[in-house]
Amino acid sequence: MWLDVAKTLNVNGKIRIQCCRDDNSMIVGRTASKLWCYCHRCKESRSVSVGLRSIKDIINDKRLLQELKTQSPQNRLPKLTEIPADAAVWYLKYGISNADVSKYGIGYSQKYKRVCIPLAQNAGMQMRAVYPYQEPKYLNVELKPNAYKSLVFDTGRRKGDKITICVEDVLSAIKIRKAGYHAIALIGTNVRGKWNQIQQHRNTIVSWFDSDDAGKHAYTELHKLCELTGTRFHSVHTEHDPKVYTQEEIQRILNGIN
Ligand SMILES: [Zn+2]
Repeated sequence: MWLDVAKTLNVNGKIRIQCCRDDNSMIVGRTASKLWCYCHRCKESRSVSVGLRSIKDIINDKRLLQELKTQSPQNRLPKLTEIPADAAVWYLKYGISNADVSKYGIGYSQKYKRVCIPLAQNAGMQMRAVYPYQEPKYLNVELKPNAYKSLVFDTGRRKGDKITICVEDVLSAIKIRKAGYHAIALIGTNVRGKWNQIQQHRNTIVSWFDSDDAGKHAYTELHKLCELTGTRFHSVHTEHDPKVYTQEEIQRILNGIN
């Protein structure tokens, strides 16, 4: 059903249709490369590739990425625009809204076809791919020389925040901030390079990393650094990334840590 509707759309067109309830909770859309749908009630989400990208498009995208790498950091910041619906699905499905991400200056680059997330007071930027053919999925670039190693996404400490939760990814950090806690995404698991940004808030540190090897290593490193510096430390271990949990679940998990 949604697919038939999608086929009728022009490139970049979209329309709302009925899904699991009697309101039009499903968005159906078409881009140059795919037909997609997303229901914000039942989270049903599908996408089907259409056609092949032309050789010209492939070469052009390669050239753009190469240019980005060789440009001086100060010139890398692309023009950001409103995030289109098919790119927004990435965070909408975790209960994060357009208003939530715009607070952090997150926008869309038409040129690179990526969602762009400012890091460390614009010292860097994470560029997340929208389409399956785009490699790499996450591109972390510095906008100031030598900033790469220390890039973090800090949701901002508010008065009364006594604990700082360290996580791996941006959406998890945003989700935790929505639940009422200060969070920093380390953009990966290199804890050492980011220690200055972590401890500047002088809060109790809570590690909440993935349960894979990289996550376990990050936990061990963070624990060590906290011990060395006499920083209060707690850790949270869950089956999934923080972003998967609801605000209430996050509050329950972090309840009692101080
Ligand atoms: Zn639905």
